[in-house]
Amino acid sequence: MKLREFPYKKRKNIEWEEVFQNPRPISVQSFKTGSVIINRKGTINPDHPSTINIIDKEMEVPILAHWVHHDKKGDFLLDTGLDASYAMNPKGGLDGTDVDEFQQKKGENIAKHIKQNGIHLKMVFLSHLHADHAAGVRELPKNIPYVIVKGEYGEYHPEIHGDFLEGLEELYGIDFSQANYMPPLGPSVDLLGDGSLWAILTPGHTPWHVSFLVNSIDGPILLAMDAAFIHENLELGVTSSDYTWSVEKAQETLEKIIEFLKVYPQVKVGLGHEFVI
Ligand SMILES: [Zn+2]
Repeated sequence: MKLREFPYKKRKNIEWEEVFQNPRPISVQSFKTGSVIINRKGTINPDHPSTINIIDKEMEVPILAHWVHHDKKGDFLLDTGLDASYAMNPKGGLDGTDVDEFQQKKGENIAKHIKQNGIHLKMVFLSHLHADHAAGVRELPKNIPYVIVKGEYGEYHPEIHGDFLEGLEELYGIDFSQANYMPPLGPSVDLLGDGSLWAILTPGHTPWHVSFLVNSIDGPILLAMDAAFIHENLELGVTSSDYTWSVEKAQETLEKIIEFLKVYPQVKVGLGHEFVI
């Protein structure tokens, strides 16, 4: 795999207030590409002082991909969800010592959504390299750029989780050392250069995880991705403890997101495993 630098320009002295005053012709629609069974007790950290009696219970939650359409710049994906191989096989046909298992109904796969909606995909942004967010790459065009945060590729372990990026020859990495610092969230990158779509560094779930902000005319939408799995993470102010690289960092990130939503109540939010609320 060849790693290339994702080109972007730092904006001058920009803050969220100004971004939201200049919405862009961009919209987002989320697709369900399968589902995953997660443990409620690991999804809401049982050791956090705000949690009492979190019941150990399995929950089936959707595996999502988000289609972003910009009237002038075209179609993009934020995460890919799953390709069709999971309808036949919960491991998606992947080899590795610890391959994640997912459920999928026939026709839920990402390529089907792309075809059904007549999407002409220009680029794919990935929040992080976990199979439920990126395995769909296998059935998507290979002649377009795929973008992660520089550093996240170091978290990719095909020998353990399977080579779900198979067929991809290059990846673009965003260098966040040049990003705008935009409180209360932190380092943020204007991905398309017109303030319409932002990547925001939200470490914790993985070391280089990113969330996205879609600055739509209908109002801004924060797609937290796996910085918050379900609405209870936000409501209780408690991050996950399972499936998480650093609970401490994830908690810190979640608190920044909660603060951001408090300062900008007009922002709608979509979560890693829940549709926009
Ligand atoms: Zn994940």
